[in-house]
Amino acid sequence: MKVAANTLKVTFLGTGTSQGVPPIGCTSEVCLSTNPKDKRLRCSVHIEVCGKSIVIDAGPDFRHQMIRAGINRIDALLFTHEHRDHTAGLDDIRPYNYLQEDHLDVYCTRHILNTFHKQYSYVFDEKTYPGIPLLRFHLIENKPFEIHGIPITPIEVMHFKLPVLGFRIGDFTYITDANYIDDHEWQKAAGSKHLVLNALRRETHISHFTLDEALVQANKIGAEHTWFTHMSHQIGLHDEVNAELPINMQLAYDGQVLEMPFNA
Ligand SMILES: [Zn+2]
Ligand SMILES: [Zn+2]
Repeated sequence: MKVAANTLKVTFLGTGTSQGVPPIGCTSEVCLSTNPKDKRLRCSVHIEVCGKSIVIDAGPDFRHQMIRAGINRIDALLFTHEHRDHTAGLDDIRPYNYLQEDHLDVYCTRHILNTFHKQYSYVFDEKTYPGIPLLRFHLIENKPFEIHGIPITPIEVMHFKLPVLGFRIGDFTYITDANYIDDHEWQKAAGSKHLVLNALRRETHISHFTLDEALVQANKIGAEHTWFTHMSHQIGLHDEVNAELPINMQLAYDGQVLEMPFNA
């Protein structure tokens, strides 16, 4: 899985909302669908660029996602926010400690780190026991930063009252769990070739864009391609919804790959 030096490759590891699709026990049309594109693990993407392997968010499906996508090395794990559907897999990074014989580099805000102290108190205990996840935290804020020389621009979006970071790397912009984006922040996504944006379902929600709201937001930027993620089963059948949507604004699916040129 070598990626050319001037290419940025994105793999959707999960495109589902917090309960995944199907949620346990659901017998809706979407949840009973046999189309693999209607099965959605919790939201995450893998980015390969400049020989580096970057993962955004580690939710409850993290282990399964890494095995399914064959990701045997992680150079950086970035977090958008601290909700469990994005962080519940943190304990499962341990194999990378063994494989890489090193702590794992984690990039998150001070606010997220404070939450990790509560969610994963044993990781930070003075008296550590063997086998806990070994993490090297890099604190970020809403300012450009670099990972191994790769420039990353955070984009702060609002998830009801919680600030969430999206990330732009080259011509790729990834935003999840937003229901409001300030125009100034949104300008940072201008000129993106591929934009990923969350769209939960058609009905309104307190902390997530609906499909219509996401379309309006995406149109403000007019990326060459927009891909929707963090979807509920209430969004409808993948193929049917995509047939109704503009060809350059489509629902993403688990396992989907995007490739685009990258100039560092
Ligand atoms: Zn979420
Ligand atoms: Zn959330």
